[in-house]
Order: sequence, then C-alpha cells, then structure tokens
Amino acid sequence: MLSESSLVCWKCGASLETLSLPLRRLDVCPECDSELHVCRMCRFFDPNSIDQCTQEDAEEVREKERANFCDYYKPQPGAYQSRDTSQSDAAKDKLNALFGDSSGDGSQSTESSSSPRQELEDLFKPNSEK
Ligand SMILES: [Zn+2]
Repeated sequence: MLSESSLVCWKCGASLETLSLPLRRLDVCPECDSELHVCRMCRFFDPNSIDQCTQEDAEEVREKERANFCDYYKPQPGAYQSRDTSQSDAAKDKLNALFGDSSGDGSQSTESSSSPRQELEDLFKPNSEK
C-alpha cells in the first residue's frame, strides 16, 4: 500500500521522494514548483465536505492550492490520483480535442468540414449549369 515515502505532487504527479518529511510550508514540487503544504495535498482534503476539509477543528483555508499554516496538515500519498484531478484532466482533454487543431496536424478536421459541404453544394447545383 501507499506510504508517506510514496508521496507525489498533487498537481503533476511527480515523486516527492527527494524531499525530507515532514513537509515544510515552503516546500515545493521539484518538477512544477507547486506549493505542497496545501489542502489539495492533505489527507483531510475532501471536495465533498462543506469547507472541503474533514478535520473539523482545523481553521478554514480558502486557498486550497496555496501553502497554508494549518496545524493538521498531513500529506496524502497518491494525492495526484484524486477524483477531482482526473475529472479536470478529462475536461482538458475534451477541450483539446475540440480546439486542438491549431497545432498544425489538423488536416483531418479541415477535410471533414469541407468535403461534406462540397457534396451538399454538388447536390444543390442547378442542372442548368451543365
Ligand atoms: Zn508537481
């Protein structure tokens, strides 16, 4: 099972093995520089609860992705795999699929959008033109 030695960055999933525990407030991810002493990385973080924290005695932290001073902070192993993150990733993939044809190889989408229209125009061409 997961242990504290298998902590990963809540944002990019990079291994945090090189960091010494416990995490300090100023610790950041070696890969993406995200702050790690944050609610999103905490095992008490729960998107479904009222202030997104299951630790009732903890003071409310508004910025869930900024370093906090919370005394109850405990890093959550595998925080990157939380449902919340995978959902936003899926949404991003959908957006990329919709708007991603500016990357250069969008030949398929331009073809498919022009050729049916061409067929339609051929269908509705007046016969007198021939
Ligand atoms: Zn990271």
